[in-house]
Amino acid sequence: LFEEVEDTEENLQPRSPVVVVMGHVDHGKTSLLDRIRHANVTSGEAGGITQHIGAYRVKAGGRDITFLDTPGHEAFTAMRARGALATDIAILVVAADDGIMPQTVEAINHAKAANLSIIVAINKMDKPTANPDKVKQELTEHGLVCEEWGGDVICVPVSAKTGEGIDELLEMVNLTADVLELKANPDRLAKGVVIEARIDKGRGPIATVLVQSGTLHTGDTIIAGTAVGRVRVMRDDKGKAVKEAGPSVPVEIMGLAEVPSAGDDFAAVEDEKLARELVEKRKFDAKEEQFKLYKKVSLDNLFSQIEEGSMKKLPIIVKADVQGSVEAVSQSLSKLSNEEVKVEVIHGAVGAVTESDVMLAKASGAIIVGFNVRPNPAAADNAKRDGVDIRLYRVIYDAIEEIETAMKGMLAPKYREVDTGRVEVRQVMKLSSVGVVAGSYVLDGKVQRNGEVRVVRDGIIVAVDKIAGLRRFKDDVKEVAAGYECGITLEKFTDIKDGDIFEAFVTEEYRD
Ligand code: GDP
Repeated sequence: LFEEVEDTEENLQPRSPVVVVMGHVDHGKTSLLDRIRHANVTSGEAGGITQHIGAYRVKAGGRDITFLDTPGHEAFTAMRARGALATDIAILVVAADDGIMPQTVEAINHAKAANLSIIVAINKMDKPTANPDKVKQELTEHGLVCEEWGGDVICVPVSAKTGEGIDELLEMVNLTADVLELKANPDRLAKGVVIEARIDKGRGPIATVLVQSGTLHTGDTIIAGTAVGRVRVMRDDKGKAVKEAGPSVPVEIMGLAEVPSAGDDFAAVEDEKLARELVEKRKFDAKEEQFKLYKKVSLDNLFSQIEEGSMKKLPIIVKADVQGSVEAVSQSLSKLSNEEVKVEVIHGAVGAVTESDVMLAKASGAIIVGFNVRPNPAAADNAKRDGVDIRLYRVIYDAIEEIETAMKGMLAPKYREVDTGRVEVRQVMKLSSVGVVAGSYVLDGKVQRNGEVRVVRDGIIVAVDKIAGLRRFKDDVKEVAAGYECGITLEKFTDIKDGDIFEAFVTEEYRD
């Protein structure tokens, strides 16, 4: 929708990383975010630290880091499900006295599905029962091997309570950012994503946006989702009024006519009239989209949605009643992969299908496979709304068979003949150079060079053959329409007679 300006290497400049904190409930996400914020905001700053705009910036080692102030992977994946990828790095918080818990696994899988770099913060190190080695051990079972054990995952022992390890954690964020070589062009119209939005009784719609590229200025006309407006006032995370915000900077803006949703994209545009037109189109598209989602997404559609190079990918989320089933199902489904289709279990866990599963499925284009479990009511509603496919089984074999069948159906395409027109043979000529040429007249439709013909004589099909040559006068042509004469040669069939009718057709691949 928005005009895409290609950024060249010269106009790209380093930008600071955007970080999200994830982990199991009560493992200390909020405490960690608070600690980082308090420790790294100078007390003299205007507005102090009471401002909550959904994201904030801290300084560490003289560099800025942007934190999304919405702990948990649900909020993150909800944004991603709307198409927004606002984050570079995930800090996975694991309590040292508790270890990997179900939501830790969820967080890992949500972060992996979004291709985030993961840094592990082993929290609550101040507790006497803290056991960081147990945490590291458990992490390896989920594919995260920490550096000191020869892997590539940075694990930092911290305490949100005492502040131990926090500086080192931030240092590691900077280090990871360096590896990622994060860059953006600050000299263009701003683009980014809506992090939070609400309506304020006195001030109207207020949105926190994260600028991802370009620079946003007060006075700019912007579109956010389907909301249009002119940025009247812009405040940073310390509550200070600012005139501009560059890449990786979150700001709260006022001036939109409506409240956008978290995860909507936003962009500054040159002129307001164009903005309004774009928004009308968006609103129309949104309705269309809604309509399409009423039709349940079939497996075939899903396969065709996600293509990685020549490889088709089918991401699957497995939920089951017991851990043994989760593993058995995950393994069996993964084994269905072949050279052309990769079945990838992106998340597996015990329990009912939840809203979080549905969000992850939407964000990743996955289907949800459930064994002896049911979606909870909200998850079922969301799945219907978002067109997420939930398939419930009682027998593992049924699931495997169904998915295998769908894969085969996709891999062995079906063909059908589509008639294009009818041709009458008026004079058969034998030419030494090209063989038998049927001097013909196209009665209706057309005949195509890349097509085939059924040779019909006295109501009987005497041959079916591919067209080898199609000419008008001396020229090779791609097709000849009704009312014109042409010369046709066939690949194999030479026993053509005057008065034969060629039914011209092409072969099309199709899916049912
Ligand atoms: P969240 O649910 O992940 O956001 O966890 P919270 O930040 O709300 O923390 C849950 C509980 O753990 C609270 O009672 C915190 O005070 C406590 N807590 C968080 N971090 C630490 C820590 O480093 N050490 C200790 N001893 N307690 C902590």
